[in-house]
Amino acid sequence: MELFKPMNTSNIDSNTTKKEMTVEHVKVLIIGSGPAGYTAAIYASRANLNPVLYEGLQPGGQLTTTTEIENFPGYPNGTKGPEMMDDLKNQATRLGSDVRFGIATATDLSARPFKVTIDDEKIIEAETLIIATGATAKYLGIESEEKFKGQGVSACATCDGFFYKGQDVAVVGGGDTAAEEATYLSGLCKKVYLIVRKPYLRASKAMQERVANTPNIDVLYEHVTKEIIGDMNGVTGVMLENVAKGELVKKDITGFFVAIGHKPNSDIFKPWVETDEVGYIKTIPGTSKTNVPGVFACGDVQDPHYRQAITAAGSGCMAAIDAERFIGERKF
Ligand code: NDP
Repeated sequence: MELFKPMNTSNIDSNTTKKEMTVEHVKVLIIGSGPAGYTAAIYASRANLNPVLYEGLQPGGQLTTTTEIENFPGYPNGTKGPEMMDDLKNQATRLGSDVRFGIATATDLSARPFKVTIDDEKIIEAETLIIATGATAKYLGIESEEKFKGQGVSACATCDGFFYKGQDVAVVGGGDTAAEEATYLSGLCKKVYLIVRKPYLRASKAMQERVANTPNIDVLYEHVTKEIIGDMNGVTGVMLENVAKGELVKKDITGFFVAIGHKPNSDIFKPWVETDEVGYIKTIPGTSKTNVPGVFACGDVQDPHYRQAITAAGSGCMAAIDAERFIGERKF
């Protein structure tokens, strides 16, 4: 799902003249409501910066699509994705963050205060902007995948692999993420089928070797997923097509991990903020600073490597501290 609508950023002014837009001025504007955005809001609130946070199209972000979370420190009995996001939101609100429903539809980051249009009807002028719009995992787009999302279908082995300990699972994809997820799962699961649509892996040589040297990973080249099979209790198998032979193959599995890439939600910032070729926002290493002074990025929108709730939260904290220092140095 595209969380923040891409649009033509050059037309903010003409939009403004066409429609009567209200304008509001804030010190810190946060776009995005995953762990990164809420953590930034918590820190910015405690620094008396009165942050305004817009939640976007999927309030709570990607974690609201997962069920159990067992790897976030501080929850000895685990928690649920939606519950954790509610907790973070309540914490941010209690500390004074102004959390609002709304979608950023346009940006003009050419000069401060930055202008961000919300829902095509309001302009927020911000002295600092924290981009926490996340990334969206790509899915295959087949009906049965949608049906079993969160019930056997996952886009994050590190998050959900533990629930399939000792079981047979499948990973789809041929890049570094798929190879990494397959090797991660091989340490937990009995057998891992790696479903690759081409006759080769796209992953780096080092990852290919790790896959090849892991006895319980079975790479199924030139296989495509036709259907994920399951019942009321979740996934029980997957129907594949061996495209080289034109044969259908069924594998019994309980977990199906999609690892075919992510799309960072950076489109509306791209005219101003530097990204890599995939669209991840570039930050100065060890900081949340982008190439635009006063614009900071945190969470998955700038992280192709870790993509964990805890790393997103940590980078949200960094963004708020960077924004606070930016404001402090300029005394506005
Ligand atoms: P990639 O875009 O590199 O790979 C996506 C894979 O998914 C490809 O093999 C592609 O197949 C396959 N795929 C795409 N769509 C489908 C589909 N509909 N059905 C079946 N297969 C499909 O994404 P990654 O997430 O793997 O990596 C993103 C970037 O992050 C890369 O630059 C990668 O190197 C980097 N990365 C680095 C890591 C590290 O250094 N430790 C770890 C993880 C990622 P095909 O090859 O046929 O196009």
